Amino acid sequence: MNLVEVKDLVVRFRTDEGIVSAVNGVSFDIAVGKTMGLVGESGCGKSVTADAIMSILPDNGWIENGSIIYNSLHEGSFNVAELGKKDKKLELVHGKEMAMIFQEPSTSFCPVYTIGNQIIEAIALHTNIPKDEQREYCIELLHKVRISNPEQRIDEYPYQLSGGMRQRAMIAMALAGSPRLLIADEPTTSLDVTVQAQILNLLLDLQQELGMSMLMINHNIGIIAETTDMVGVMYLGKIVELAPTKELLANPMHPYTRDLFRSILQVTDQKGRKLAFIEGSVPDAYNIPKGCAYHPRCGQAIDGLCDTELPVNCDISDTHRVSCHLYNKRAQ
Ligand code: SF4
Repeated sequence: MNLVEVKDLVVRFRTDEGIVSAVNGVSFDIAVGKTMGLVGESGCGKSVTADAIMSILPDNGWIENGSIIYNSLHEGSFNVAELGKKDKKLELVHGKEMAMIFQEPSTSFCPVYTIGNQIIEAIALHTNIPKDEQREYCIELLHKVRISNPEQRIDEYPYQLSGGMRQRAMIAMALAGSPRLLIADEPTTSLDVTVQAQILNLLLDLQQELGMSMLMINHNIGIIAETTDMVGVMYLGKIVELAPTKELLANPMHPYTRDLFRSILQVTDQKGRKLAFIEGSVPDAYNIPKGCAYHPRCGQAIDGLCDTELPVNCDISDTHRVSCHLYNKRAQ
């Protein structure tokens, strides 16, 4: 059963340079109790997709097409794409059923209040826990996210906590309403490798313990491979490959997916310098190349086809789909 069903999602932004499509026909599901991952380089549309699901697009952005069906426990099924940002249904599910954590905890915490004040505010907003029990519940949450000495930390200000501790406190705040869906947008990118691993393990343990669904967003395919059940590989606003994580690891098919995997290998030249694998950079969103958007960087591009025609989605199996001319009958 799916908690979220995203279909043919198109998100656009109005900018000084004109209208740009950040997400171009994205479709995927988030199953109950499972983790879906979106991976790709900066600007590929993964965070915009998450913001559209949460209905927190900036004022110059809008959903042009497609649907985001959310199967709410309390409000029934509804299409997020059809609701205004201030719709009552969204207000009721935000925090209680859907929560989000970000790369930078300072976007969630105000520096002039203690973390306890701020988490207790979330508890008051998203739960029916009586006022005199909210502090105790906050300590319980801090304990759950493995913050040592939570009885003391609850009265500390965000600046008194290390980066990893602040991230844990932000997760505690997101958990206040016992959400069914947790969206984690690059939750560990600003942390060093050891703390990153601790936070990812914590998220996985919490997901198992609480039976949450998760949408994990990351630019690092290694992290996505370790933490998800299903992966969508995004390039310039499209999902170019979608597959169960194990299958993607065993059999990556899209040239971009393969290049992403290659790019995380620790291969060095004779002087010990790390080699870069993906040639070129992501094209400007205002000048998306004709045909397959990846063709200027793709080592397997077919002249006269990849540079002129958009590849269509090919179903490799019921759960594995790839958008590349290499798998079209016509190109074989
Ligand atoms: Fe490469 Fe062509 Fe496939 Fe695009 S469609 S990824 S250019 S082979």
